[in-house]
Amino acid sequence: MRIYNFSAGPSMLPLPVLEQAAREMTDYNGSGMSVMEMSHRTPIYEAIIAQTEADFRKLLGVPDNYKVLFLQGGATTQFSAVPLNLMKTGKADYIVSGSFSGKAAKEAEKYGKVTVLATSKADNFTYVPYVDTFSPDADYVHICYNNTIYGTTFHYVPQTGDIPLVADMSSYIMSQPVNVEDFGVIYAGAQKNMAPAGLTVVIVREDLLGNARPETPVMLDWKIQADNGSMYNTPPAYTIYVAGLVYKWLLALGGLDEMKKINERKAKLLYDYLDQSKLFKPTAKKENRSLMNVCFVTGDPDLDKKFCSEAAANGLVNVKGHRSVGGMRASIYNAMPEEGVKALVEFMDSFERNNIK
Ligand SMILES: *Cc1c(COP(=O)(O)O)cnc(C)c1O
Repeated sequence: MRIYNFSAGPSMLPLPVLEQAAREMTDYNGSGMSVMEMSHRTPIYEAIIAQTEADFRKLLGVPDNYKVLFLQGGATTQFSAVPLNLMKTGKADYIVSGSFSGKAAKEAEKYGKVTVLATSKADNFTYVPYVDTFSPDADYVHICYNNTIYGTTFHYVPQTGDIPLVADMSSYIMSQPVNVEDFGVIYAGAQKNMAPAGLTVVIVREDLLGNARPETPVMLDWKIQADNGSMYNTPPAYTIYVAGLVYKWLLALGGLDEMKKINERKAKLLYDYLDQSKLFKPTAKKENRSLMNVCFVTGDPDLDKKFCSEAAANGLVNVKGHRSVGGMRASIYNAMPEEGVKALVEFMDSFERNNIK
C-alpha cells in the first residue's frame, strides 16, 4: 500500500515512474540487463542520458548557450563548486534567506571575500529579503530560490545586471517554469523534485566556464564536466535514468505550465485551511510562501508532536518540521497527489476539532 509521504527529501516519486522502473528493473528495453548494471560507455546508456538531457532542456526551455551537467555530491558540493568556478577576483555577494544559503556563504568564505547583502535570520527566516543593490565588483550573486526548511520562496528575481546570478533551486526546480536566462547558474539536488538521491543537476551559461581556480578538484570543474558530457568519471547512471522517467512523466502531464497549476491548487488547499484555522498557524510570510514546503505550528511543541504521530498513524507520514525549527512541514512536491493534500487537510481539520480548547 502507498502512503502519503510529506518528506522534504528524499521524497515521493510519481507512481507511474516507480512502476515503469520496476517493469524495466531486470531487463531494460530488451538488453537483458538492468540500467543499474550497464556500462555508461555503451550506446544504450548514451541514449538514456542524451534523452534525459533533451527532455530536461525541453521542460525548462534551457537555451542553447547553457550546458546541463549531471553530477554527484548533492547541492552541498555545489556550495564549494560555485566559488571555485566563479570567483575570478575573489569576491561574491550572498543573500542569506535560510540555512542552506547560510551554509553556501560559509563555504564560499574559504575562497574569497563574501558579502552577505541581507539576511532574514533575525526573524527566523520567515521571509525572503528584497535586495536591489549589489557589490559592483562581485564575481556573482548567490541565492537559494526556495528555502526548503522554512517554507519560503523568492517572489522576485534579483536584478543583478551583468553580475551572474547563481541559484540553488533544489526544492523548486520542475515545480513551475523558470526563465533560465535570468540566471548564470542554476543547480539542484535531484532528491526533492526529480529523482532519487545521488544526482545534482547544474545548468551553467557557457561564457562562465573555463575560469575555475587552479586548486579546483577535477570533479568540481564545470568546464571539464561539460567537455566530457558529465562522464569524466562514472555518472550516477541509474539515478539519471529515473530522472529521465520523471521528465517523461512531466511532459506527458503537459509540462511545467500544467505542473504549476496543479502545484498552486495543492498549496492553496493547505494555505486556505491554515489561514482560517484556530489551532494551526502558517509560519512563512504570505508573499514568500512556498508552493513546495508548507510550514506550520500549533504554538505548543507537545501538541505538534501529538499531531505528527497521529498523522503518521493515519497514513500521512513525515510531516515533522526540520530538526532545527520544529513544528510541522508538509512537503508537497510534484509527485504528491492532490488527494494526499486533501487527506492532510481533512485530518488537520478533525485534529483541530478534537484538540481546540
Ligand atoms: C536539500 C537541500 C540542500 C542540500 O542538498 P544535498 O543534496 O543533501 O547536499 C541544499 N539546498 C537546498 C535548497 C535543499 O533543499
